[in-house]
Amino acid sequence: MHAEIIAIGTELVLGATVDTNSAYLAQQLATIGVPVRRVTLVGDELEEIVAALRQAMARAPLVICSGGLGPTSDDLTRAAIAEATGRPLIFHQTLLDDIAARFAAFKRPMSASNRQQAHVPEGAYIIRNPRGTAPAFVAERDGRYVAALPGVPQELRYLTEHALLPYLRQHHGLAEVLLVREVHAAGLTEAEASERLGDLMPGVNPIVGISAKRGQYTIRIAARGTGRDDAERLIAPVLAAIQERLAGFLLDEETLEQRVGRLLTERGARLTVIENDPAAPAFRAISATAAGRRAIRQAIIQTDLPLEESYESTARRLAHLADPRESSTARLVALIEPGDASMRNVHVALGTPHSEEPRYATRGVDFGLPDAHDFVATMALDLLRRWLESSAHDSPAPQR
Ligand code: AMP
Ligand code: MG
Repeated sequence: MHAEIIAIGTELVLGATVDTNSAYLAQQLATIGVPVRRVTLVGDELEEIVAALRQAMARAPLVICSGGLGPTSDDLTRAAIAEATGRPLIFHQTLLDDIAARFAAFKRPMSASNRQQAHVPEGAYIIRNPRGTAPAFVAERDGRYVAALPGVPQELRYLTEHALLPYLRQHHGLAEVLLVREVHAAGLTEAEASERLGDLMPGVNPIVGISAKRGQYTIRIAARGTGRDDAERLIAPVLAAIQERLAGFLLDEETLEQRVGRLLTERGARLTVIENDPAAPAFRAISATAAGRRAIRQAIIQTDLPLEESYESTARRLAHLADPRESSTARLVALIEPGDASMRNVHVALGTPHSEEPRYATRGVDFGLPDAHDFVATMALDLLRRWLESSAHDSPAPQR
């Protein structure tokens, strides 16, 4: 079985509201083995919605609609589905009672137009809505099913998880399971990552996909099986191959931020962070986790740091520990060469206890890109991770 989604709302077509419901629904349907083949956006126009429904129903056995279930005159999904399925709208007193009870609980008067929301197409499977006024439903025509969910994202999510997916599983015999495992990696280029994983990518079941963001990678392994155990069995050998090929770069299910935070705690490490960019990318990345925040002793953000002969030597000097045998606080330095050019060099240095020479990394980063600072953050986190992982077998760092 496959599905199509129709997201209804003029605000969506105009781009005033981003259609997040379809992305969510597509992900959720995938978990019960129902791939979404097409997503349609349509405004609040009855003929447009009816036409979109007819076309989608001609292609797919299951069509999920979001939005247009409110009480106002531009909420036309009920009427459109009634027309496309040839089922008249029927009033249900129990649904109106639900709506009235909700208004009473909020101590708000119910208006006459809310009565509209107590109508559903004849014979539809009704999904009551404890999170809002609009009930959802699944209508049917000639073995084609059309579900209608309210557009408010939190209501839609609640009803999808608590009612629609269980209904689909039960009534449509969807025993097939799609299991998705995600692992994270960092510290190698995209080309290196895809070279190492290249021959795993064309798989059909499981499917391996890699997406890059700020120098961090998410590798998704998606397997379809007759049950969870079956899907796990399909994933296991592929996961093992990925673990072998990305050894040293793989963070498993942790993100780089989480891994660094956990290692900082386990090692009892303390940090001083020194940066010359007011966006403070390294500081922000480390303080993204509670464990990272606990490790930070001091953060210095100074845009006019006195420069030595080069940024590299400045970064190394700032990272240098007065006495590497004594201090338990590592010094992390992230310097972005200033200037108007969009491609600028970044220098990251890490002075660590028990080591005379700071660790150092440099690369060019395109500051014309909106996420340029995230690359700096990834460089800093990765330098920290390498140190923390390499020192995992040393004696713990002394506490102060
Ligand atoms: P509706 O059910 O059409 O009255 O939608 C209620 C509200 O939910 C709208 O005002 C939007 O803010 C939001 N909404 C509707 N459809 C979507 C969608 N596809 N994605 C995200 N938000 C939506
Ligand atoms: Mg709407």
